[in-house]
Amino acid sequence: MSANVIAIDGPAASGKSTVASHLARLLSIPYVNTGSMYRAVAYAVLENKVDCNDTEAMAELLDSIKLDYSADEEGNFSLSLNGRFLKDELVTPEVNAAVSHVAAVVAVREKLKTLQRSLAEKQRIVMEGRDIGSVVFPDARWKFFVTASPEVRAKRRLDQSKESYSSATLEEIAKSIAERDRIDSERPVAPLKQCEDAVLVDSSNMNVEETVAFIAERIR
Ligand code: C5P
Repeated sequence: MSANVIAIDGPAASGKSTVASHLARLLSIPYVNTGSMYRAVAYAVLENKVDCNDTEAMAELLDSIKLDYSADEEGNFSLSLNGRFLKDELVTPEVNAAVSHVAAVVAVREKLKTLQRSLAEKQRIVMEGRDIGSVVFPDARWKFFVTASPEVRAKRRLDQSKESYSSATLEEIAKSIAERDRIDSERPVAPLKQCEDAVLVDSSNMNVEETVAFIAERIR
């Protein structure tokens, strides 16, 4: 049993990253955001203009990139791609649009699964993504599936940027989130789904503190 892992899965913009990072802080253990790993590979795919349906080109790209999850200059646990720490580059509209397609490539998932498993070897961690409880750590002791209604998720995504927005923008964001969820749920390998043994956490009517408290209570 992967007693070391607290697995938190859920759809896009469900608030799971915020919840997972707060929970990790509360428990004083590292937090690993696996979405950023898929985003880093998508970034490399775009930068190198690789067609993600081209198996050979993808294999070559995956061989040439080194992903590391280590402390950055400020001591935060961050992701580097070939030695370069990435942050804002991972959340551009281009990466948002490409990432689900890249994440459906089997070779990409295999490479990242190995990295994800290695991170839990030595320490207790909170790991967040889409398939952590179902595929990466099917025997994780704690599994949570964090979700929220589509409207709440779109609003949360926009509220993060602190800028005002129109109802048309809200609709557009809701559409792009729904499209990412559709691709993530329909892919044949490691699709987004709630596993039977995961605790469902519907955060539509809970703030971050309440959601973290709900999860921490179950772990205790
Ligand atoms: O969590 P985030 O929204 O940043 O994830 C970006 C994308 O990475 C997801 O839409 C999904 O396509 C992919 N992903 C995945 N498996 C994970 C984490 C993320 O397929 N464990």
